[in-house]
Parts: sequence; C-alpha cells; structure tokens
Amino acid sequence: MRTKEHVKREILAAIDRRADQIVGLGERIRRAPELGFKEVKTARLVEEAFAGLGLAPKTGLALTAVRAEARGSADGPTLALLGELDGLVVSGHSLADPATGAAHACGHNAQIAGLLGAAMGLLDAKAMEALSGRAVFFAVPAEEYGDVEWRADQAQQGRLEFLSGKAELLKLGHFDDVDLAMMIHTTARPEDRKAVVDVSNNGCIVKTVRYIGRAAHAGGAPHDGINALYAANIGLSAINAIRETFRDEDSIRVHPIITHGGSQVNVIPAEVRLETYVRGKTIEAILEASVKVDRALRAGALALGAKVEIATLPGYLPLRNNEAMAKIFKENAVGLVGEAEFASGDHRPGSTDMGDLSHVMPGLHPYMGGARGGHHAADFEIADPVLAYLGPAKALALTAVDLLWDGGTLARDVLRSSKPRMTKEEYLKFQRGLERREAFDGGAPSPVMGR
Ligand SMILES: [Zn+2]
Ligand SMILES: [Zn+2]
Repeated sequence: MRTKEHVKREILAAIDRRADQIVGLGERIRRAPELGFKEVKTARLVEEAFAGLGLAPKTGLALTAVRAEARGSADGPTLALLGELDGLVVSGHSLADPATGAAHACGHNAQIAGLLGAAMGLLDAKAMEALSGRAVFFAVPAEEYGDVEWRADQAQQGRLEFLSGKAELLKLGHFDDVDLAMMIHTTARPEDRKAVVDVSNNGCIVKTVRYIGRAAHAGGAPHDGINALYAANIGLSAINAIRETFRDEDSIRVHPIITHGGSQVNVIPAEVRLETYVRGKTIEAILEASVKVDRALRAGALALGAKVEIATLPGYLPLRNNEAMAKIFKENAVGLVGEAEFASGDHRPGSTDMGDLSHVMPGLHPYMGGARGGHHAADFEIADPVLAYLGPAKALALTAVDLLWDGGTLARDVLRSSKPRMTKEEYLKFQRGLERREAFDGGAPSPVMGR
C-alpha cells in the first residue's frame, strides 16, 4: 500500500518526465489562440491528449468544451479540474491571430497545459488506484466575455443560452455530477509572487446598448438628422459623471466600448452600438450601479431626442474562494514554490465565471506565476514556461490527491463545512431574472405640469 506522500512523489516525477510535452502543448496553444465558443483547434488538441491517456473524452459540450474523467478505486466525491480554452482580442499582441485578433493575453493556454499535465501526472502514476471518487478533467470555453454580438446571435439561433462557458455548461447539466471544482489561473502580477489565493473576485453584468437616431446628409442637412453618436457621447459622459458616487468598497468598474460608431462619414450616424460591463464586489452593488448606468445612458438619448435600447445580460457572479480548499492548495503550492513565493491576496476587481460555479459548489480559483506583462495587454507573455505550465499541473494533481485520498475524507469535509449559496435551479432563476431589455425614447414629449 502506497502512502499519500509516495503517490505525490510519483505524480511529480511523472509530470517532470512529461515536461517537454506539457511545455510544448502550452506553447502550441499560445501560438494558435481562438476566441470563446470557437476554440475548435484547441479543443481537438485536448481531445487527442485525453484519448492518448486512455480517457474517453466527450466533446462539443456548450459548443467546444471537452470533458473526460478517471475513476478512483472506491466511491467518493467528484472533483472537477478545469482549464479555460479561450483567448481574447487585444490589438497589438505579437501572437494575435491575424484573422480573428485572438491572443492568449490572459494565459489560458497555461491553464490547458496545466490541466493536461495534471491528468498525465495522475494517470501515469496510477494515482487513481489509491484515490476515491472521480477526477473530472474539463476544458471549458469562453471565460472571456466578449464577442458579444456573435454570441447573442448564437443565442438567437438557440445554440447557446448563457454567453459564458461555465454558465452554459452548468445549465446543460455537465456539472450535475460534480461536487467541487478548481482551476489555476496564470498571473503576471509581481505582487502575486509564484502562487496566490485571494478571498474574492468581482462579479459583473453585461450591457449591450444601441442608440438610434436619424440619418441625414452630414453637410447638406444635418438639421434633419438625429446624431446617435453624440447621444452616445453624452451617455458615456454621464457614466463618467456618476463614477464619484461609486463606493471604493464596492469595487465598481464600468468600462464601455463603442462597437459601431456610424455608417460612413458623410452621414449623420443613425445607429451607434456600445457594450459595457458593470462589475462589483457584491450582487447588490452591481445592481445598484446598473440602475445608475441605465439612467446615464438614457440621458444621452434625451439630450438629442434619440432612442436608446439597453439590454442587460447576466454576466458573472462574484467569486468567493472556498477556504478549506484554499488551505489544501496552499500547502501544496508552498511545497512547490516555497513559503516566500506564496502570497495571500484579498479582493480582485476582475471577474470570472468561476464565480458562478462557486455559488453552486465549493470552488477554488488561485493563480500561479510564470507570465509577465499586463493581463489583457499587448505585452502579456509566458516568461517562465516551467512555472507557468508545470506549476499548475503539479498543484492541481497534488490538491486532487489530498481531496480524494482515504475515501475522499478531505473533499467530504469541504462539502460538509460549506453550504453552497444557491442550488443550480436557484442560480439559473437568478441569472435569467437579471436579463432585461429597455427601450427609451428621448424624443417623447414630457408631461406638462401646468403653468
Ligand atoms: Zn482574462
Ligand atoms: Zn483569464
């Protein structure tokens, strides 16, 4: 009978034996970035890697997810290890796909390398024979919530409901048999050192906004037009004016972009489209800010006599890392990178759909280093492939061993000590309840109060 330490040592040795392969996979994906729900080539690579390990992957879940599992020698909890497949559009990134603009400027390629490496380590070392329950290896799509018009179009066609990967997978039932979930994100922030666990991440809602004016000859008859771009400008200025009403502790972030600014330059713009997130630390704070943002957007339509359509879509729920899982991860991470290289963070203003999962099951979303530059910036790159790709592989596999060892005692402890904040049904109902479509006519006459 092998001891837990023995099994862990064999996993680490197995991952080290596969180091070149795992680094190669991470680099291959880095050089072939794809956008969310379109990660076809990356998904195929994952499928082949899983099949090569003797697993039986299911593919095409929520369009592009790939899921495989390995059983322990006895019944027990099911732990999902996740890796995100997608890149995002960052102009100026040196490895951006010339056709789509996609780039791995958030290091998700390292998540996939880590996930595949963890599966390799656990299977090569025959660790599952010593574990209980199941390990689910799950490559998931579309964490970066962008490309919104295309996704909304997919939803119209009935190919998606939720516009992020984990939410859609949750809805489709692919997490129904999962008890706890974890993933490791890459970080480039020096203050995160080589591994960090935070307390929480912001959540968000997403808005698509359409200002509708009236086209007219921009030189000959601008007085006949209603300039949707100026309406949008005033809407954006109004959002900037309300920023001082956001409380620091709510960590609100509102960052609109113009996705369509007019048809051509000699025509008064009749249609202008915006997208924005409203992020915040709590659901209440997000919803409160959302009301103000809608009001600001209406102000633009009112000033010009334009119309504005505001669609509010469910985004991500705020993430809270499970403390018991964080403790187990920390022990393993410290073993790998040393106490001095481990950081304990607080709150991060970015958002992730791991927040959604963390509402329905214990979830963990720590970060490990190996990248440099700015996240979502043109200079983001993998600086230390060994740390970026092998670090998460090892930390995921070792944490899985702890959770599923001895009948899955620690996983059962986690489940006993942490009641999920929502059932799956409550989650779906809540997210669907956020969806809202408003049409405001800034040209409508206001009621007369008398003289
Ligand atoms: Zn990102
Ligand atoms: Zn990311």
